[in-house]
Amino acid sequence: MIIMVRVAVVDKDLCKPSKCNLECIRFCPLNRRRKIAIELHESRKYVVIHEETCIGCGICVKKCPYKAITIVNLPDEWERKVVHRYGKNAFKLYGLPTPVKGKILGIIGKNGSGKTTSLRILAGELKPNLGNYEKDVEWSEVVKYFRGTELQNYFKDLSAGKMRVAHKIQYVELVPRFIKGTVGELLLKADDKGIAKEIAEEIGLTKIWDRKINVISGGELQKLLIAATISKDANVYLFDEPSSYLDVRERIRMAKIIRKYLASKNNYVIVVEHDLAVLDYLSDLVTVIYGEPGVYGIVSKPYSTKNGINYFLEGYLPAENMRIRSEPIKFHVYGHEKQVTKKQEEAIKWTNIEKKLGEFSLKVEAGKANKGEVIGLLGPNGIGKTTFVRILAGELKPEKGEISGRNTKYTISYKPQYVSPKMFDGTVRKILKEANPDALNPTSWLYSEVIRKLRLNKLLDQNASDLSGGELQKLAIASCLIKQADIYLLDEPSAYLDVEERLTVAKVLRKIVEEKEALAFVVEHDVSIQDYISDKIMVFKGEPGVHGEATKPLPLRTSMNMFLKDLGITFRRDPQTGRPRVNKEGSYLDRYQKSIGEYYYIPIKPELEEE
Ligand code: ADP
Ligand code: ADP
Ligand code: MG
Ligand code: MG
Repeated sequence: MIIMVRVAVVDKDLCKPSKCNLECIRFCPLNRRRKIAIELHESRKYVVIHEETCIGCGICVKKCPYKAITIVNLPDEWERKVVHRYGKNAFKLYGLPTPVKGKILGIIGKNGSGKTTSLRILAGELKPNLGNYEKDVEWSEVVKYFRGTELQNYFKDLSAGKMRVAHKIQYVELVPRFIKGTVGELLLKADDKGIAKEIAEEIGLTKIWDRKINVISGGELQKLLIAATISKDANVYLFDEPSSYLDVRERIRMAKIIRKYLASKNNYVIVVEHDLAVLDYLSDLVTVIYGEPGVYGIVSKPYSTKNGINYFLEGYLPAENMRIRSEPIKFHVYGHEKQVTKKQEEAIKWTNIEKKLGEFSLKVEAGKANKGEVIGLLGPNGIGKTTFVRILAGELKPEKGEISGRNTKYTISYKPQYVSPKMFDGTVRKILKEANPDALNPTSWLYSEVIRKLRLNKLLDQNASDLSGGELQKLAIASCLIKQADIYLLDEPSAYLDVEERLTVAKVLRKIVEEKEALAFVVEHDVSIQDYISDKIMVFKGEPGVHGEATKPLPLRTSMNMFLKDLGITFRRDPQTGRPRVNKEGSYLDRYQKSIGEYYYIPIKPELEEE
């Protein structure tokens, strides 16, 4: 018989004892028998659950009007693997990624599963308490706990101050609040190895060397912090979501630079990453963190990069014998073109468009888009993608050219690139209800496929102004998708989302567009998602910040070839999952595909598989 233990988590922000009838406490069957399992904390600000007494019946979970309580039953053998718990009724982490000297370890997993927590522990910023949150656990205990594993020596050295750690944190936008100065000053200060100028050149920071960091863009800040981290003289290099805000070229460049400067025998390098193509390109090994977001996370064994990502997509980890998702994620392998099932009916068309914004000018080639299509927008930062989306949304008037709909009038649902709390007023429930009341009906498709999958059902009674950046992004996407419209415009929906959330958005958008014969335009830097979501792509080229030129919507193969040829990278397909994989530069496949001009689409022949 498997013995189960209870893991109960109370979200202190959601729990509001002063505003409810405390039915969680009144209806608890153990409380009624005077074996207190749940009670009010002495601060009276939230409830506490005693996991030793709790039987996990779930009555309190159902009674709570704010969905503040989660209780899961886990096999008690896992208790031996607890590495950290933030506190009573707080998030619990089982296991830890095992860094391997000389290899780059990639980490993939849902948001809220403990990736950042793991990095902070490995950085020595957070001392693991092995689950004893009431006690100050000694380092010697931690070292002993990991005996017989690579982590034993790791923590021995870390606690003795023998490890130097360089850590690129997740939320780069917070940095200018704490650090002042120019890009150059910051880079020179971090530069232990005398390579700052060289890296700045390679990653593209030279042009903004003298600029103050409080005025640079998110992407520039990201590149600056990556460069500074690499130029530190350390033994451990940690990168938490380095792709955020970067375009495709910058992502590949970032991955190349991390490989070039850090992949050596003596270093530990760990990267948390949601862009599958980047994670694949960058990592030697991949660890999956799975579990219930916000409640518990379990760290898998390290797998080879290819297998780790494939197992993650398939939703089953063989070494753990663990199903982490009920359904596999499949990338459709279209061969050469996506199949056209229905007769194409034009939705909108436009003539040649020209638009000037300050010093910047944009030209868009005349084109059209059909009902039932998703059009991807692909190109570097600062090239005019958002400008074009805003023209479509009617926010900007072009100097030249016009857009005409079939019935001239079309309704639009638009998710802008940058979402701020100011866009919304009221609770999550109210905002979603205004977008489409049906989406809040728990039996509706929109509820199960959008609201639940983006985990907004837990936030319904929160005020939009209290949401985090990622939560706000999800609210903005959901309220855009659930609205009735002819045209959906999504400007960089992937920012802050994990792989499953990105794929959820992609899947829902495809379904809406197909069923309602709507049309969508999506700005997206994640090539795997672009591949998954788009029927056609508009390629933006030119000189960022100066001028941009966009093609009309082109078939995937043509547009991807155009875009990737410019970048000098080729993709092959994984035969099991169909996901695109970056070829190693100069490898047989890379040379072959370049020679025949097929940068993206190549029929899968297993004998051509690398590795
Ligand atoms: P990820 O990086 O995978 O998105 P995190 O490691 O940041 O996840 O967080 C995992 C969980 O731990 C989240 O539910 C988060 O709210 C919780 N958490 C993070 N920091 C703390 C803290 N200092 N106290 C309590 N809970 C925390
Ligand atoms: P992308 O979405 O491709 O990153 P954008 O369309 O947002 O690019 O911007 C293209 C260029 O136009 C950038 O250099 C940006 O600084 C400039 N730009 C955008 N809006 C304005 C404006 N209102 N006034 C002046 N320049 C602008
Ligand atoms: Mg994180
Ligand atoms: Mg933009």
